[in-house]
Amino acid sequence: MSWNCFICGKKLGLLNAKTVTSDIELLCLEDTNKLFGEITGKEHIGIKPIYKSWVQKHTSAEIKELISKNKNAILIAPDRCIGCGRKISAFKAIVTKDNKRICSNCTSKVFGDTNGAVPAWINNHNGDYFLAYLKNNRSLKAISKDNAKGEALFCPYCNSENVKPLGADKKTFSVGKAAAGAALTGGLGLLAGFAGKKTGMTDFVCMDCGKQFKR
Ligand SMILES: [Zn+2]
Ligand SMILES: [Zn+2]
Ligand SMILES: [Zn+2]
Repeated sequence: MSWNCFICGKKLGLLNAKTVTSDIELLCLEDTNKLFGEITGKEHIGIKPIYKSWVQKHTSAEIKELISKNKNAILIAPDRCIGCGRKISAFKAIVTKDNKRICSNCTSKVFGDTNGAVPAWINNHNGDYFLAYLKNNRSLKAISKDNAKGEALFCPYCNSENVKPLGADKKTFSVGKAAAGAALTGGLGLLAGFAGKKTGMTDFVCMDCGKQFKR
């Protein structure tokens, strides 16, 4: 075990506020708060007990991974907006299909002016699906709970549309060989059309950054 923060390298003494991971690495106060989406720059007296216990249950590798993907641990804290990390009550939030909360500010970043179809669309989609649009500055216009204008197939990590389905699950290509062929040769419009139907997830791989994701 080293007495330095495993993220920023800052030396931590006995008296410095810090958290300890399950593999006994130290995380400084600032990086702990950042991990949970706290606004930095203001004075924190200490570390919240829920943060301490969360860090204790996770490895330094898992935490590094979250930070490198620019995600934060608040994704698992159910009382926060998954877009910005702000605490938000269930009444003010729009709740996704997988029970994640989204604040009105993050909603309007993606949808601009809200219309009646927006909450229905969010209720009907998973948090990660919405987040991909938010993080990549893509905008949507909700039409119904199932459809929004602007939906596309793209890599949630790097925003590239140069993505391909992973070969294995050919069965998910219910639209048939033609669509699969179009997909493989870059007919993304067709592919996006069928991928938008929530009939099951398909694994895709990004040809630009190499990461895999489900749609
Ligand atoms: Zn640090
Ligand atoms: Zn938000
Ligand atoms: Zn990518």
